[in-house]
Amino acid sequence: MFNKRIKIKALLAEENTGFEATVMGWVRTFRNNQFIALNDGSTNNNLQVVASLGEFEDSTLKRLTTGACIKVTGQVIASLGKGQKVELKAATIEILGDSDAEKFPLQPKKHSLEFLREIAHMRFRTNTFGAIFRIRHSLAFAIHQFFNDKGFVYLHTPIITASDAEGAGEMFRVTTLPVDGSAPKNEDGSVNFKDDFFGRSTNLTVSGQLEGELAAMAFSDVYTFGPTFRAENSNTTRHLAEFWMIEPEVAFNDLEDNMNLAEAFIRYVIKYAMEQNKEDLEFLAQRLEEEEKQKPQQDRSEMGLLDKLNFVVNNDFERLTYTEAIEILKESNHNKKKKFQYLIEGWGVDLQSEHERYLVEKHFKKPVILTNYPKDIKSFYMRLNEDGKTVAAMDILAPGIGEIVGGSQREERLDKLTARMAEMHIPAEELNWYLDTRRFGSCPHAGFGLGFERLVQFVTGMGNIRDVIPFPRYPKSAEF
Ligand code: ATP
Ligand code: MN
Repeated sequence: MFNKRIKIKALLAEENTGFEATVMGWVRTFRNNQFIALNDGSTNNNLQVVASLGEFEDSTLKRLTTGACIKVTGQVIASLGKGQKVELKAATIEILGDSDAEKFPLQPKKHSLEFLREIAHMRFRTNTFGAIFRIRHSLAFAIHQFFNDKGFVYLHTPIITASDAEGAGEMFRVTTLPVDGSAPKNEDGSVNFKDDFFGRSTNLTVSGQLEGELAAMAFSDVYTFGPTFRAENSNTTRHLAEFWMIEPEVAFNDLEDNMNLAEAFIRYVIKYAMEQNKEDLEFLAQRLEEEEKQKPQQDRSEMGLLDKLNFVVNNDFERLTYTEAIEILKESNHNKKKKFQYLIEGWGVDLQSEHERYLVEKHFKKPVILTNYPKDIKSFYMRLNEDGKTVAAMDILAPGIGEIVGGSQREERLDKLTARMAEMHIPAEELNWYLDTRRFGSCPHAGFGLGFERLVQFVTGMGNIRDVIPFPRYPKSAEF
């Protein structure tokens, strides 16, 4: 029954007519008791199915409600209506799944994105989310293709981890111990994790980097692409508690190679989506344009979605040091007129998202790579520069998003690494396995982490990260 069906995307691309075809999908609308707009998720474009007057029982027609699932067999004919070349003249219509029109949560009227988030189990059936998740798929596919073509090994790093030294963020505890206070205790009253499932305290991973480095010391080029977790209470449009991250780690790369790789990577996957998802991107560009019209003039972005993507594909990112960025920010009118919430007074402070966005959106008007940050605001594993106060870090900042990539050349010198760990009170014995890479055949290497959802946000133009992952997890929300 099912293998004979043709997908609507393929049918709509048909040049020929006059043959029989079977389609299956969900009714978007049914008008004049004759015209069914049918969608099967292969494209946002609906197939027009014609149920000629008088040819079908009233009892069948009544069940052709929005959301119902049907199977139709009929003749493919040239369409008289505009907007499509072919349509299907139904010979048989079978209802596979009824949908009570009164109770169907998606109504033809426009729903807000906030409302759709509450019915995330249904929102796939809207044009907006259809487009978003097909693009998300393409980007994921392109990521694997990019690295595979370059001979990288895809590494599955653990999701449950005992290492809490990375310091990338607050972690979720993984335990089978009782939560009612009856867990075994040490003499000082703290929980004794010796009796826990793993015999020690464990968490959900915040990054696969440290394990990635181990494998890079054997395969040269590896990448991870998996879920990561942060238990930070960040209620922003750019943070999730569960998100996906891509982390390449490359032996024999320095900071500049690392930036070149990140730029080539971002360009490649965006280009891929622009080729594969042309119609979906055009749809989202239109959506964004309408959304922008609601904003006051000065808040509107100058470029449309497609212009912005083309711009990124065709132009080099602006590269500058943290120190140069601080100078620009300090001297900016924005800073002088005290328009930043956090004013920039001098070197050494961490940049807030308002500063990142100023650099990208107001000053350079293009993606920016900031390098060589003060060591005190970055992780222990980043390579110390000659000056002794900055590290070979790089963050890529994207318009509308802020930080999309965080990376660095790693500290490959054992003495420098252990000295830094001691300064930062990171117990070396817990990371002995990591330090072994520096003891046995250490080499210069570099890598970065790209937040997958922030990339999807950038490509789809969606303002809220909760709308680019199927079922978002964030503080006080883990529905579905
Ligand atoms: P931010 O300062 O924006 O919170 P971060 O400095 O904590 O980011 P990293 O630890 O460097 O980020 O993580 C690497 C990448 O993972 C970031 O560049 C970003 O794209 C993404 N990322 C980090 N935290 C989150 C989150 N909570 N939700 C979604 N993506 C995230
Ligand atoms: Mn963070």
